[in-house]
Amino acid sequence: MNHAEWWSRAQKVIPGGVNSPVRAFKSVGCDPVFIHRADGPTVFDTQGKAYIDFVGSWGPMILGHNNPQVRSAVGQAAERGMSFGANTQAEVEFAEKLVQAVPSLEQVRLVNSGTEATLSAVRLARAVTGRDLLIKFKGNYHGHSDSFLIAAGSGALTHGVPSSPGVPQGTAACTLLADYNKLFSVEELFNNYPGQIAAVIVEPVAGNMGCVPPLPGFLEGLRALCTQAGALLIFDEVMTGFRLALGGAQERFCIDPDLTTLGKVIGGGLPLAAYGGKHQYMQQLSPAGPVYQAGTLSGNPLATAAGLAVLQEIQKPDFYERLEDLSEIWEAGLAKIFKDRGLSVSINRVGAMLTVFFKEGGVATFDEALQSDTDLYAKWFRAALKEGVYMAPSQFEASFISILHTEEILTEACRRLGRALDSLN
Ligand code: PMP
Repeated sequence: MNHAEWWSRAQKVIPGGVNSPVRAFKSVGCDPVFIHRADGPTVFDTQGKAYIDFVGSWGPMILGHNNPQVRSAVGQAAERGMSFGANTQAEVEFAEKLVQAVPSLEQVRLVNSGTEATLSAVRLARAVTGRDLLIKFKGNYHGHSDSFLIAAGSGALTHGVPSSPGVPQGTAACTLLADYNKLFSVEELFNNYPGQIAAVIVEPVAGNMGCVPPLPGFLEGLRALCTQAGALLIFDEVMTGFRLALGGAQERFCIDPDLTTLGKVIGGGLPLAAYGGKHQYMQQLSPAGPVYQAGTLSGNPLATAAGLAVLQEIQKPDFYERLEDLSEIWEAGLAKIFKDRGLSVSINRVGAMLTVFFKEGGVATFDEALQSDTDLYAKWFRAALKEGVYMAPSQFEASFISILHTEEILTEACRRLGRALDSLN
């Protein structure tokens, strides 16, 4: 059976044919491919066609696909049983390693998805401050729980429904919107709602409106405003954690958030996420304190085994230096294919996270991201797919590389992406 037949079957039994909206390729105007397997920097579809992969399962695959150490750790854990719903030694070791690696973490709680991590962190922030209001940034995405589906990025933005029906008005009213990289918009909200704001949640490097780095002083300003107002600063590092540095964006930009959420890389492709922060706040969680949060599969032994194996690999000497070198080669290669063709685009990159915006003159804000030529991106995406390059199926997503995207692979990818551009004329 070919892709079209599978796609037709999928749409009959799964809403929109997918288990997560962006996978439907709607905004790039073609049907999605079905992936059969993946290895290193490559994914293979069910017809056996190979693609150089810049999605990396949306971020987790920093070691490349099918890493032998991770695979073997998961296999060994599986030999001992899939889930116990009880304490394991591995989860303690894993928590110790997270706390060691991420500067602001003093305690950490494991959960199953980024969505769960962010919604739990906000509940905790509300509980410890006794306040209801939350500030989030337009175009940032923090998972699909009610409080965050207000002007959300990623799939919500791609499909033109950044705010979802089904979110109670009362919940939506508790989410205040600010503009990313515009500190005064946050200042204004703190002035207008004195003593009522529980937390500011931010992607320290935005990835879900495409990659948009923080302007100098933005994160520092958020830290200062939160401290001054007695609100908690939550860094959503589900995407940036263990990608931009071992200690995530907070290490890279030297900021000390109160709470941090993690996901993607830490599970090596298995469902694993975490939230953590200052001891005084985390101790409010049940059963140490009154704030309830639980999970049948939390700290699942297979996921924890994968996580420990990933941490072991990325803590090897020079891992992030090498990743940075490769990322620079990637950016330079992309810049060249556009320059050679006289095309002006804006390329944003922080570490191994990058977006080519089809817009001149740079992208530092959500409004600027929205000015991109999404039709042109869609055409390039479709041509790239034909050439055997698998990019994010939306202008408003970050692309990722792994440590196995060698100079040769990146050069070949750029050659193919250049050919894809040529085919658009
Ligand atoms: N926060 C950020 C910054 C994310 O990028 C994502 C997912 N892309 C989430 C939260 C939600 O994570 P999950 O999809 O695991 O629920």
